[in-house]
Amino acid sequence: RAKRAGRGRVEVFDDALRTELDLRADLERDLRHAIDADELVLHYQPVVDLSSGAVQGYEALVRWQRPGHGLVPPLEFIPVAEESSLICELDAWVLHRATAQMAAWGHHDRTVSVNVSGRHVSDPRIVDDVRSALARSGLSPAQLALEITETVVIEDLRAPHHLRQLRELGVAVTLDDFGTGYHSLASLRDLPVDTLKIDRSFLDTGTRSSRALLELMITAAHAFDLPVVAEGVETPDQVAALRAMRCESAQGFHLGRPLTVSQVEALAAGPGQERSSRGSAPAPAA
Ligand code: C2E
Ligand code: MG
Ligand code: MG
Ligand code: MG
Repeated sequence: RAKRAGRGRVEVFDDALRTELDLRADLERDLRHAIDADELVLHYQPVVDLSSGAVQGYEALVRWQRPGHGLVPPLEFIPVAEESSLICELDAWVLHRATAQMAAWGHHDRTVSVNVSGRHVSDPRIVDDVRSALARSGLSPAQLALEITETVVIEDLRAPHHLRQLRELGVAVTLDDFGTGYHSLASLRDLPVDTLKIDRSFLDTGTRSSRALLELMITAAHAFDLPVVAEGVETPDQVAALRAMRCESAQGFHLGRPLTVSQVEALAAGPGQERSSRGSAPAPAA
């Protein structure tokens, strides 16, 4: 009897696994199609200069308007795309769309940050993708920043080589989710990056020790002449703490939610309206 029950369980598990694999296969097939079918959309989250309070740029964040599924957040499909070279096509689409959008807005004093997956940074085509996005959009390279994560630069020797080529084009490189990786502070000295973006898990300023850790990270970045962006700022207290720690810039729901293209345009159209939108900007779903 035990044996039969055991076998039954294996079958149930098999079915569950099959369903899971089927769903993933559907997702990958639909995503491949989504890029050509123009189902991907970018939202733009303001990055604020903490000394002036002005918006200095936007981070482009991809969403998928998947038929029958609503607006799908990136963490539900980026990992699937990262299992194949599909991620390079997706990242290239985002690069083209974000640079074209920024050039069309004509905000010459603002930058746009684009997230690029580790797999794409290790692929030589990243350099051509960035070059062609800049050429086609006419955007100044100084207005583009690429966000990469910590693990990629240490796991693959080709990545730093590509990043150096990109910086030679005049594009900035931001180390995203800083603090969540696991290499030594000393290696910061040698990384081909221009800015550190501190992960939001370090923004908890509630206890003395977590504040000390945040301050230590900012001080370390400054020791290497790297400006800092703090991400995930949700309260006025965090803004005050970051200002006291001489953090240059910040991003988070308190300063501005990711906005649709028309929301960014509405803010730009009304002078002075950017301030009043803080913390209460209409939230496009996810
Ligand atoms: P990330 O690059 O670290 O982006 C920041 C994420 O934090 C965004 O989530 C943003 O909406 C969210 N966020 C911003 N402010 C706050 C806040 O105050 N509180 C909280 N709780 N969250 C905040 P999102 O848009 O869901 O993106 C998740 C991740 O997906 C991104 O993390 C990035 O790693 C990846 N991603 C997004 N767009 C792209 C893309 O175009 N290409 C690639 N390769 N990855 C992307
Ligand atoms: Mg990012
Ligand atoms: Mg981040
Ligand atoms: Mg993060």
